[in-house]
Amino acid sequence: MTDIVCKRCGNCCHHVNDEGKVVKCKHLVKLANGKTLCRIYKKRLGAFCDDEHKRFCVLRENSQYNYEGCVFNYLDSSKPMFPTKK
Ligand code: SF4
Ligand code: SF4
Repeated sequence: MTDIVCKRCGNCCHHVNDEGKVVKCKHLVKLANGKTLCRIYKKRLGAFCDDEHKRFCVLRENSQYNYEGCVFNYLDSSKPMFPTKK
């Protein structure tokens, strides 16, 4: 059996801002080892990801997108790929 585990790449913690630029959530921390962590993980759901209070954190499965390299994309392959590059 294979355990599917989040790679902590942080791809799903990005959004497209009003200027059309891909930006990271203000709570996302990038570590020296290339992984990421959420500064407010236990209280993340519903928290605003931006200072404009336009985007907020949702459960991964409720995201409208798939993400490059995400191990959970298979849950709904009909979702569009997020236009990301970190
Ligand atoms: S608040 Fe949500 S989107 Fe922001 S870093 Fe944490 S888990 Fe990612
Ligand atoms: S995109 Fe997928 S693998 Fe990467 S942090 Fe988000 S849930 Fe984890």
